[in-house]
Amino acid sequence: MKTTKKYLLPDQEIPKMWYNVLADLPPLQPMLHPTTREPVKPSDLEPLFAKGLIEQEFSTERWIPIPEEVRTLYKIYRPTPLVRASGLEKALDTPAKIYFKNESVSPVGSHKLNTALPQAYYNKSEGIRKLTTETGAGQWGSALCIAARHFGLDTEVFMVRLSYNQKPYRKVVMQTYGGKVISSPSNLTQAGQKILAEKPNTPGSLGMAISEACERALSTPDTRYTLGSVLNMVMLHQTIIGLEAERQFEMAQDYPDTIIGCFGGGSNFGGISLPFLRHQLAGKAKFDLIAAESSGCPKLTKGTFRYDYGDTVGMTPLIPMYTLGCDYEPAAIHAGGLRYHGAGAIMSQLLKDRIIRAVDIDQEECFKVGILFSRCEGIIPAPESTHAIAATVREALKAKEEGREKVILFNLSGHGLLDLNAYESYLNGQL
Ligand SMILES: *Cc1c(COP(=O)(O)O)cnc(C)c1O
Repeated sequence: MKTTKKYLLPDQEIPKMWYNVLADLPPLQPMLHPTTREPVKPSDLEPLFAKGLIEQEFSTERWIPIPEEVRTLYKIYRPTPLVRASGLEKALDTPAKIYFKNESVSPVGSHKLNTALPQAYYNKSEGIRKLTTETGAGQWGSALCIAARHFGLDTEVFMVRLSYNQKPYRKVVMQTYGGKVISSPSNLTQAGQKILAEKPNTPGSLGMAISEACERALSTPDTRYTLGSVLNMVMLHQTIIGLEAERQFEMAQDYPDTIIGCFGGGSNFGGISLPFLRHQLAGKAKFDLIAAESSGCPKLTKGTFRYDYGDTVGMTPLIPMYTLGCDYEPAAIHAGGLRYHGAGAIMSQLLKDRIIRAVDIDQEECFKVGILFSRCEGIIPAPESTHAIAATVREALKAKEEGREKVILFNLSGHGLLDLNAYESYLNGQL
C-alpha cells in the first residue's frame, strides 16, 4: 500500500441539484403500457410509484433541486472521497493516472443510498406507509431499509434466492434496519407461485423478484414499489456522484478523459458519467465512457436493443432497452447486482448512439484484479465493482503499451466486506 491522495469537498459544498441528462438529449422512445402498448402516461404509474418520483421520471428540466431533508441525510456520508489510486498505478507501472470515486464509504457500503433516500422521502411526503422492492446481492435492499427507517416507513424486500442463500449477512443487515426479507420466488404472490410451479429449483432472478415486489405494492394499501436502478429518476439521483467528482477534479487540478463504471442497470455508471457527458453534449469535451458488464449477463455486448419488460412475468411497462430477454436466467455469478437482463433506457440509447461503449468481463479476471486492488489500495471491492477495476486495468495497460498518458476515473460502487465467501472461493481456487 502506498499513501494515496484524497480529495474531499467541504460538507457545505455537496451539490444542491441533480443533473438531468434528458434536458440535453433528443427525446427517448417512450415507455409502453404492458397491456395496451400505448405510451405510458404519468398517471398510469401512480399505483406503483410516488408522484414526486414519477414527475422526475418524465422531467426534461436540466437541474432538479435536492430536497433539503435529503441533502441533510446525504451529509451522513457525502461528499465521498475522490482518491488517486497511486498504489494501483505503481503496481501496473502505467503512465495512466487513475482516480476512483469511493462510494463504498456509505453506511450500507454502496452508492445505492443516493437514490434510496430520495425515494423514501417522496413516498413519505405523499403519505405512503410501506415500500416494497427487490434486491439481488442485498445492496439495494439494505439501502432502502435504512432510508425507509429514516422516514418511518416499513419495507418488504424480495431477495433473489441465490443471494438469499449465498449472502446471509446482507439479509441480517436488512433485518437489523427493520426490513422484512423474503426469498424470491416466494409463495406470497401469484407471480412467485406461477414461477415456482414451473421452475421449483430456480436460483431466482431480479426480474422475478421485481414481479413479486410490484404485485405486493399493487395489492397492499398505502404501499408503493421502489426500484434501485434502470429508471431515469434513479440515474438522476446518482448524478450526485459525478457532480461531486467534477468539483474534486478542480481541487486536484486534473481532468479525466476516460470514465468507467460497472453495469447492472446503469445507475452507478450513469451517476458518475452523465455530469461529465453534459460537456461533451455541449461540444466542449470528449470522453471515452466505458460500461463494464459481466460476461455472465452481457446485455450490452450480446443483447439487442428493443422493447422489453423490466420484470419476468410482464407486469412493468415495456422499456426501450438493450436486453437479453426478460425471462433470461443469468449465470450464478457472485456479482449479484449485475445479474439483470436489461439496461436502463437512457444508458441504452447512449450505447445505441455510440456515445458510450461496453465491455464484458468474466468473473475470474474480476476477482484477480479485485485482489490486486485490495492489496494496493486497502479496500476490498464489491464483486460488482471489480468489473470497473478490471476495465480500468485494461485501459491502464493499453496506455502503457501505447506509451501515452491517460486520466482514468472509475466508480468504486461498493465494498465487498459482505462478499467474503466469494473471495474465499476465489482464493481457494473454487470459483
Ligand atoms: C447494485 C449495484 C451495482 C449495479 O447496479 P447499477 O445500477 O448498474 O449501478 C453495482 N455495484 C454495486 C456495489 C451495487 O450494489
